[in-house]
Amino acid sequence: MPTNIAIKENIAQTRERITAAEKKFNRAAGSVSLLAVSKRQPASAILTALEQQQFHFGENYLQEALDKIDALQEQPIIWHYIGAIQSNKTGPIATYFDWVHSVSSLKVAKRLSTQRPKTLSDLNICLQFNVSEEDSKSGTTLEELCTLAADVAALPHIKLRGLMAIPQKTETFEQQRAIFHTVQQAQQHLIDAGHPLDTLSLGMSADLEAAIAEGSTMVRIGTAIFGPRKTAP
Ligand SMILES: *Cc1c(COP(=O)(O)O)cnc(C)c1O
Repeated sequence: MPTNIAIKENIAQTRERITAAEKKFNRAAGSVSLLAVSKRQPASAILTALEQQQFHFGENYLQEALDKIDALQEQPIIWHYIGAIQSNKTGPIATYFDWVHSVSSLKVAKRLSTQRPKTLSDLNICLQFNVSEEDSKSGTTLEELCTLAADVAALPHIKLRGLMAIPQKTETFEQQRAIFHTVQQAQQHLIDAGHPLDTLSLGMSADLEAAIAEGSTMVRIGTAIFGPRKTAP
């Protein structure tokens, strides 16, 4: 496990990478926010990051996340769910998270909408855009995405903020950028169709520069901040 000092230095370095990429690719200063991905990391690591004014945290595994949310409930943390969603587990996701990046069906969106407690503000939603180039059959078509976006945007108690994607790793920066470009184009298509989207959740530890070059507004960074993850318990 990385020491507290390592986490602090890693956060500073990650912020520098983001700032440098904003400059290099003519993005407005401060237009890219940092989501610290704390899956398979202990609550103590999150507390260290909080001391560095890092407030947004992403989690993938529901039970593990709920344990940390409970342990850290006094802290001013904004929790993002970025993992696979089982439709019978939407209740706690709708209740304990502020954001969900991984919505890919109307069924799940409807459940989150119904289960979001009315006392809370709208749940922020990103649609996961499937951009696997190898097997285009499993990818989302633009037409399907447009229909889904329109249906999701019409639901109460949730707010459609944008798209998220997890592209496969490629050999070169230019290839990585080309895939991110596809996602950015899809986002623009939805904006042109009238959706007021402001979030493009793109980029991880290894490819945040390519993502920022293509318009990412939120990079999801795990290992570059917290070091290698513990394996599944
Ligand atoms: C694990 C994960 C990340 C962080 O990946 P790193 O390579 O550790 O930065 C980002 N997004 C999603 C959806 C993840 O599952």
